[in-house]
Amino acid sequence: MGDLVLHLDNINKSFGGLKALGDVNLHVEEGTTHAIIGPNGAGKSTLLNVCIGRLKPDTGSVTFDGQELTGKKPHEIAQIGVARVFQTPEIFQEMSLLENVMLPAFSHRDGAFKFNAAKLLSRQSEIREEAEHILEDVGLKEQMMTEAGSLSRGDKRRLELGMCLILHPRLLLLDEPTAGMARHDTNATIDLLKKIKSRGMTKVIIEHDMHVVFSLADKVSVLARGQIIAGGDPEAVREDPKVKEAYLGG
Ligand code: ADP
Ligand code: MG
Repeated sequence: MGDLVLHLDNINKSFGGLKALGDVNLHVEEGTTHAIIGPNGAGKSTLLNVCIGRLKPDTGSVTFDGQELTGKKPHEIAQIGVARVFQTPEIFQEMSLLENVMLPAFSHRDGAFKFNAAKLLSRQSEIREEAEHILEDVGLKEQMMTEAGSLSRGDKRRLELGMCLILHPRLLLLDEPTAGMARHDTNATIDLLKKIKSRGMTKVIIEHDMHVVFSLADKVSVLARGQIIAGGDPEAVREDPKVKEAYLGG
């Protein structure tokens, strides 16, 4: 067993009178794929937003590899090596796929957001080469010169994943990577996630679709009404009556 690298301790988060997260504790082992599943409105996206600094928890702390993430700004958390794919892809519609994948590298390399034009330009061909490799990995190389806005929903999500991979994250958080996809696209995305599984980065996948989770996850935690109600190996979680009830009742 690897070391535990991501720790969420006693996370509480309310929106007005609504308790979106209640005393969430979660520990993720390095290099594994950890799924968080739960019905709509369970608090999954809120949990992810707390991890990446988009939301500040009311109480509790998030640490990654010994570094405190709580209270840090999203870009500071990104510098620590945490990347995320959102439920709604955030891509540059009017730019080519290649430009979309190259851009994050330009704003990120050398551990600084300070724009060092000379240095970055000298690395442009290196970055381009890597971006092309990544586009090949995510199955979009042939269209790399087309505008991102023209892609299907599934392809946009794969593009966004490519934009994350060029950052070489140590922790990758994905919020419902197959949401809204047809079965064919879902399967292609699962295959892609399996392919990048071997790269050694730690992944947290938030998913509503149980089928996706059970073909990918090493460990599963179940969130229902803001609380972790079950967790462990996928097989055990699948058979847990509390989980079945949360899904049927949720
Ligand atoms: P999930 O991703 O599991 O579907 P969310 O984390 O998006 O659930 O939402 C959990 C609960 O918190 C829901 O009841 C949702 O309406 C509420 N919620 C989420 N974000 C906000 C917000 N910014 N303001 C108010 N309520 C919110
Ligand atoms: Mg959500």
